[in-house]
Amino acid sequence: MDAMNGCLACKACASQCPIKVDVPSFRSRFMQIYYSRYQRPAKDYLVANIETLLPVMAKAPVVLNKVTQAKWVKSATEKMLGYVDTPELSVPTLKESLDGHHALCFNLTWLQALSERERADYLLIVQDPFTSFYDAEVVRDFVLLAEKLGKKPMLLPFKPNGKAQHIKGFLRKFAKTASTTAEFLTDISKLGIPLVGVDPALVLCYRDEYAEILGENRGDFDVLTVHEWLTPRLETWLSQPSREEEPWYLFAHCTEKTKLPNAEKEWGNIFRHFGAEIMPVAVGCCGMAGTFGHESDKLQTSRDVYNLSWQPRLETLPVERCMATGYSCRSQVKRFEHKKLMHPLQVLVRII
Ligand code: SF4
Repeated sequence: MDAMNGCLACKACASQCPIKVDVPSFRSRFMQIYYSRYQRPAKDYLVANIETLLPVMAKAPVVLNKVTQAKWVKSATEKMLGYVDTPELSVPTLKESLDGHHALCFNLTWLQALSERERADYLLIVQDPFTSFYDAEVVRDFVLLAEKLGKKPMLLPFKPNGKAQHIKGFLRKFAKTASTTAEFLTDISKLGIPLVGVDPALVLCYRDEYAEILGENRGDFDVLTVHEWLTPRLETWLSQPSREEEPWYLFAHCTEKTKLPNAEKEWGNIFRHFGAEIMPVAVGCCGMAGTFGHESDKLQTSRDVYNLSWQPRLETLPVERCMATGYSCRSQVKRFEHKKLMHPLQVLVRII
């Protein structure tokens, strides 16, 4: 268990290593068996149920933030749950920031009634728990970016992704979550409208962990990352001349880099098309890895991993021009540097 606990679930072993041993996959199975014999720590239940709790918590984010950020609550959470640096919920919430916008008006029957040609203008955004509730600006900016590009974006109703349950070895729960969400996404994908998610690690979960747990029952749907959606459509948008001398620095998510090795190159092509340059920054895992970095017994490891590559690179670069694709990475930089990195899509919406 000590060895398993040190795994960041970055998936480098499953894709980059020639032997391709999938540690996160067998670690989940190990944890499920281990905790059928031994008592689970309370924080595991919090992590496993976070996707059910978040939509309720987001109904009163200001009050909840006051509570979770109070000194005595932080100390009690650390002592009783072994959980540190609880992030603040987004204020305004995603719903508030898009108040009155058609992106909130998803209606399956109405979309089904549209002709194929009309549907070609649409884009469906698959929400994930972390970006939608803790970094809502990113999702709002994706709506604005899609609109600037002449599309009609709509948010799908929030459905739990289940990755946190998989990581913690709640495999029966994960199978249920994955089955319900896969069924929903399979139905939606019949519309023939692209499904896009903003967080690469959670998008990739639909491909890897869903296929692993559901096998043939995974259904037939594709959720694209933002750069996967933009890349094949680039030629439909007018290219722009280069306008900026300084590049933007891209810190890609480690799971994204291991599973989609062309991601940085494709982001580079997208930015070049719109008149900007990207310089990929050679970094490994940021050390946050979902909720890993929030667990008090792993805090030091998380900081050590961060100090290996992220901290020294950020120290030498203008932080306001640094971008990170992963929610976890942005969250890690925020707590250690007290600075907010943008998702590349947020830079695009400002420069286009
Ligand atoms: S930390 Fe990454 S490479 Fe190491 S075992 Fe875990 S998933 Fe594999």
